[in-house]
Amino acid sequence: MTAHIPGVIAEFIESARGLSIAVAAPVLGLKVLGRKSEHAQPCPACGGHDGFAFNTQKNKWNCRHAGVGGNDAIGMAAHINGLDIKHRDGFLAACGLVLGQPVPVGGEQESDNDRQSRLDRLEAMKRRNALQSEKAAKQADDYREKERNKARGIYDRADFLSTSPIAFGREYLMARCGGYAPQWEWLRVDENVPYWHNGEVLHEGAAIIAPFMDIAHTVIGCHITWIDLAVVGKYRPILKDPVTNELLPSKKMRGSKKGGIIPLSGEMEASRWVGGEGIENGMAVAASENFRADTFYFAAGDLGNLSGAAEPSSRFPHPFLTKTDRNGVARRVFIAGPEPKKNQEEGEAMFVPHHVTDLVLLADGDSEPIMTASAMIRAKTRLGRTNRRCLIVFPPKNEDFANMAQVQHD
Ligand SMILES: [Zn+2]
Repeated sequence: MTAHIPGVIAEFIESARGLSIAVAAPVLGLKVLGRKSEHAQPCPACGGHDGFAFNTQKNKWNCRHAGVGGNDAIGMAAHINGLDIKHRDGFLAACGLVLGQPVPVGGEQESDNDRQSRLDRLEAMKRRNALQSEKAAKQADDYREKERNKARGIYDRADFLSTSPIAFGREYLMARCGGYAPQWEWLRVDENVPYWHNGEVLHEGAAIIAPFMDIAHTVIGCHITWIDLAVVGKYRPILKDPVTNELLPSKKMRGSKKGGIIPLSGEMEASRWVGGEGIENGMAVAASENFRADTFYFAAGDLGNLSGAAEPSSRFPHPFLTKTDRNGVARRVFIAGPEPKKNQEEGEAMFVPHHVTDLVLLADGDSEPIMTASAMIRAKTRLGRTNRRCLIVFPPKNEDFANMAQVQHD
């Protein structure tokens, strides 16, 4: 029997404890991603996509699958190798892993049998998690496809706005935008579209239905604008939450919108594209240009789909806007920055095809100006190309293009 040498073991443990997560990570076979401090990746024990991460600056690690984490390399080594540090052999084995050394003679060694059954346990857990995430992804796909089908149903059932015997769609667009693109059949109308709110039909009535299309012209969603011509001004019904009395939007989207666009007038093959966030502004500018034949007019549906996500490091404080936090302290409002998020995938925000050489982006005049300006610059940067002239157009202060059309028209 080998003599017990406590000094050697104590020193072994001490040197393992002294190692930072940054130093131990590569020894443990974890991926070190560039110079960033946060390194997200699949958990070597639990699998998954990016549920595991360690932070070299904060000296912390965590695994979202297992709901565990800590601030030492030994604990991290134990988790990703399925070792139990509450037992001395597991603890010493974890120390050995971070040091990249075997446990010195005299320390309790993990038996070959224990080691094998630990590795088998890990393998089984990884397989289980892989199956589970596959199932969850399929469920999300199924749900999205169902929502898209519902949206297509709403769109397919509706009648062409420009030729329908029902006139409210044309009247609304004439009143709000000064025109309705009579030669195009992108927009549709339906007299009875239910407005669902908290599981109940709050309103049912006339609505304009617009499609969200992807680059292949497939309808991936729809945009619904409820109309009430009796409400002078916006010509939309006033909808309120029956409990809180809060004003509700009279527009809704179904299915997918991200990465899609709402066509208003013209063909996507056109080399000049003009559009902004909403249908009314795009249509108002289209009408004011007399629906140019060389132009495709569109709406992005919302500002996020137009601008795309921001690179987090470009966010900045609003020069004067503040918001009161839970403790009653006024805090500066932070604005999503002008730089587009890096490595965006196609489909994360609206597309503009390569053949477009002239792009005019319409800003909303009735939203917060600094936030809007930042988002519009982000859109321009994201959609800009060497051979593309890209222009942002702002309406006069406190106006938007639809209001201007309305004023002219009245
Ligand atoms: Zn894990």
